[in-house]
Amino acid sequence: MPASKLQTPTARTCEVCGRSEVWNADEESWRVAVEDGERRVGSIYCIHEWDINGTFAPFD
Ligand SMILES: [Zn+2]
Repeated sequence: MPASKLQTPTARTCEVCGRSEVWNADEESWRVAVEDGERRVGSIYCIHEWDINGTFAPFD
């Protein structure tokens, strides 16, 4: 069984500013996602409303 297939979110996107992050299991921290060579940092002033789009969904 691959260790990377745990029941944890692996990606999240802010619905407000568009910041996108991916989970780094090695460092156990979120890293800014890179799409098309661009870092999806969004706004540093945003409070971030995360839309978890991984397999982990604890809410209805
Ligand atoms: Zn945000």
